Amino acid sequence: MTQKEIALKNNKIIKVDKLLKKEFGIPQRAEKLPDPVDLTIGTILSQNTNDNNSYKAFKNLKQSINNWNDLLNLSEKELEYLIKIAGLGKQKAAAIKNFVNEIYQKNKKINLDFIKSMSNEESIRELTSFKGIGVKTASCVLLFSLDRDVCPVDTHVHRTVNRLGIVSEKQRDKTYFSLNINFPKRIAHSFHTNLIKLGREICKPQKTLCSICPLIAVCEYESKNLEPAEKKKSNAFMLLDKI
Ligand code: SF4
Repeated sequence: MTQKEIALKNNKIIKVDKLLKKEFGIPQRAEKLPDPVDLTIGTILSQNTNDNNSYKAFKNLKQSINNWNDLLNLSEKELEYLIKIAGLGKQKAAAIKNFVNEIYQKNKKINLDFIKSMSNEESIRELTSFKGIGVKTASCVLLFSLDRDVCPVDTHVHRTVNRLGIVSEKQRDKTYFSLNINFPKRIAHSFHTNLIKLGREICKPQKTLCSICPLIAVCEYESKNLEPAEKKKSNAFMLLDKI
């Protein structure tokens, strides 16, 4: 991307963030930033399920152990049982076991504090070097635990930023890297969280509700659905702010 393209992208991000805050408000976040290991495990649990069920699985897991070291001696079957409410238990248990085993082998303790002194790029590289940790999980750690100016890209963020014309990418991870070139300061959390809300309630995968969208004036999507629609309140619970 040229400097001019980056500036245009960032101007649009700032404009969209303002419009979303006007519509949905400033999203609350936890007073104390969550520990990076907690956040990583919470994000693994949240894959392909709703935030309520992954929150229950996370709480259940934490209440069943003294600390993350206990996971080293837990079998995958036992772990799978503790997190089953989040779905995909076998797959998620394997990813969590692998993550804690690898981190323990590397540092002799289950702790990710060493990434706090790394740049965003280095932290992403380090975290994605663990089997089962992708760019989305790594970038969630950067935003929610380290409070970096980084916007993770889940399915809602990927869909909406491409429809809006902020980036033009087919793959989610490519959207992440284009969107995050010099991401504007101090708005990543509100932008990310409110876009997820927009994606869940208004800019849905199939039927967009453009007639009630606060972003219609700045959106470049060519197939807008302008049929009259009603505003509906959806579940605003966001797992990663509750860990
Ligand atoms: S105007 Fe329509 S396509 Fe554009 S962001 Fe809003 S709901 Fe999505």
